[in-house]
Amino acid sequence: MLTLIEKLLFLAVVATALYFAWRNFRLVYLVIRRGTGDFPSREQIVGRLVEAGVKWLTIRPIWKTRPVASVFHGLIAWSFIFYLLVNAGDLLQGYFPIQFLGDNPIGSLYRFLADILTVAALVGMLYFLARRFVLAAPELSYRENIMLDEKVKSGGIRRDSLIVGLFILLHVGSRFLGESFAIALERAASGHGDAAQPFANAASLLWGGMGTGALTFGQHAGWWLALGAILAFLPYFPYTKHFHLMLSGINFLTKPKRTSLGAIEPENFEDETIESFGVARLEDLPWSHLADAYACIMCNRCQDVCPAYVTGKELSPSALEVNKRYYINGHMEEIAAGAETPLLLQYVMSESALWACTACGACVDICPVGNEPMFDILYMRRHQVLMENEFPHEFQTAYRGMERNGNPWNLSRRDRMKWAGDMEIPTVDDNPDADVLWWVGCAPSYDPRAQQTALAFAKVLNHAGVNYAVLGEMENCTGDSARRSGREDLFYELATGNIEVLNEVKPKRIVVTCPHCLHTLGKEYGQYGGHYEVIHHTQLLSELVADKKLSYDVHTDGKVTFHDPCYLGRHNGIVDAPRSVLEAGNIHIEEMPRHGKQSFCCGAGGGQMWKEEEPGSAAVNKVRYDEARATGAKTIAVGCPFCLTMMTDAANSADEGVVVKDVVELIAESLG
Ligand code: SF4
Ligand code: SF4
Repeated sequence: MLTLIEKLLFLAVVATALYFAWRNFRLVYLVIRRGTGDFPSREQIVGRLVEAGVKWLTIRPIWKTRPVASVFHGLIAWSFIFYLLVNAGDLLQGYFPIQFLGDNPIGSLYRFLADILTVAALVGMLYFLARRFVLAAPELSYRENIMLDEKVKSGGIRRDSLIVGLFILLHVGSRFLGESFAIALERAASGHGDAAQPFANAASLLWGGMGTGALTFGQHAGWWLALGAILAFLPYFPYTKHFHLMLSGINFLTKPKRTSLGAIEPENFEDETIESFGVARLEDLPWSHLADAYACIMCNRCQDVCPAYVTGKELSPSALEVNKRYYINGHMEEIAAGAETPLLLQYVMSESALWACTACGACVDICPVGNEPMFDILYMRRHQVLMENEFPHEFQTAYRGMERNGNPWNLSRRDRMKWAGDMEIPTVDDNPDADVLWWVGCAPSYDPRAQQTALAFAKVLNHAGVNYAVLGEMENCTGDSARRSGREDLFYELATGNIEVLNEVKPKRIVVTCPHCLHTLGKEYGQYGGHYEVIHHTQLLSELVADKKLSYDVHTDGKVTFHDPCYLGRHNGIVDAPRSVLEAGNIHIEEMPRHGKQSFCCGAGGGQMWKEEEPGSAAVNKVRYDEARATGAKTIAVGCPFCLTMMTDAANSADEGVVVKDVVELIAESLG
């Protein structure tokens, strides 16, 4: 227990620390509140409490990659969570003559866990310091062509990491030493140590020759340094990346449970008082995206999986969050007071980086603290296009096509059904009671290669006796590329027009061969009153197989691999259906290292299909093709017309005899 003077002194230290901490935490609140949008309601928070709590306690999102670092991070995280109890116990023991949780089995268990987790935190922290400062792990750095805040360039993240590391070592290490002195004191008095704390007990043997005065001093010094470190660190906490401990929980609690990764927030074009669209400055971002900057642990996991970064472009989703954070840290008071911040494109990323994003969602999916860098990028694009009229000029043709002819190829609206040739394809006028409305999509309607997929699907539907219909010339582009490249107004026009048609037709179910149509129709049209059950063609095929309406034996020349389209696997979680359909045809899939939800992009999403790739060291489709090829596959199966184009282009350039086919083409061929 502390002396009276120590108790009073500690209270004074607590009061000072709390005052400065309150000041800085209030600044953080004011900064985050500069963002747009409402905070979630109390009911929403309560509804998310259990899931967010489980995520936070189990650190579930971290386990997707880097297993070794994740284990060491787990050691620190769980120790710190348990230390909430340990610090409370130590405080009570300092002020009252008690043994926290008593000298009984529960108290022993508590001391055992505290001892084990103390050592775990020390080991974990030493690993991370060694990884950054001794091993200089390459995944923790940025490439030269990435725009970075000056403080980051001059070693800001290393300094921050060192400060956080030393704080943890000091806090946990002092407590450990204090306990060891306390045990040595106990041994001096009673002749026995504390078997419940194996590590501290072993360390206490080192102090065997010391007198009780020195041991008491050691015990008190340990107590002061352990708890004092927290108090000294508390006001500084919001400036460090250690703040993710708190903000990750807030992220999990406040982010809406998305029906998919990429349901972008719409603009309100009906409200004539709104003069600006999209995001130009920090304060235009949703408030939760300002919180993202505080939550970022600067782990670069998002960068590892970003197809743009991996292929040498100027984009790093991690740098986006880090640059936001460093700007905020350097201007906290002005931002909190309401000052206008500079344009994001001046300090978070270059224009080329902005247009390099494929909207693949990998950064959102992988982030262990729930950050959403992709959305920042898409909202910034929206501002560039709608307010500044600044965008890659190649988009013009696609935009014009969508505006005039309802397709980005800018081919005649009247030619939408030309793909069918001599085939009889029923329209909703011919068959108004169809069980399934087949939304053909622009690529299968107009792109010569993708038309083969449409023909194959029609053949399979006819073979299985499916009662289906298409919209024919009433079908328009869904607007996916317009939305993800920033033309939200065009998306709005296309979406509301399509919804009017669809609500008239009242489809029982919609089937698509394009995951971008799947996503837009199924997950985004609801924002404008279009609620439909939308399935991917591989899901329908899988049902037909299960219902024994379809059976086949697929023959291919050599091995087969399957490339998961981002908007099928990652964005919508559909990874089993295409595999089960192939397996039903006795195909064994040679999986690529990155498959399922962790698939690697083909390079066409986010509007990239309609523009030249940004400068970099490699083409995204080439990298993916090489990965597919490394499985030994001679056939690359896909489930998306964009992937079909990109992978076919890469296969043609490589000229190794590899064929790229949609899953349904393989099935249609096997039907003879
Ligand atoms: S969405 Fe994909 S391409 Fe865009 S930043 Fe994230 S990982 Fe990179
Ligand atoms: S955004 Fe997420 S994944 Fe990317 S560096 Fe920050 S914490 Fe890591």
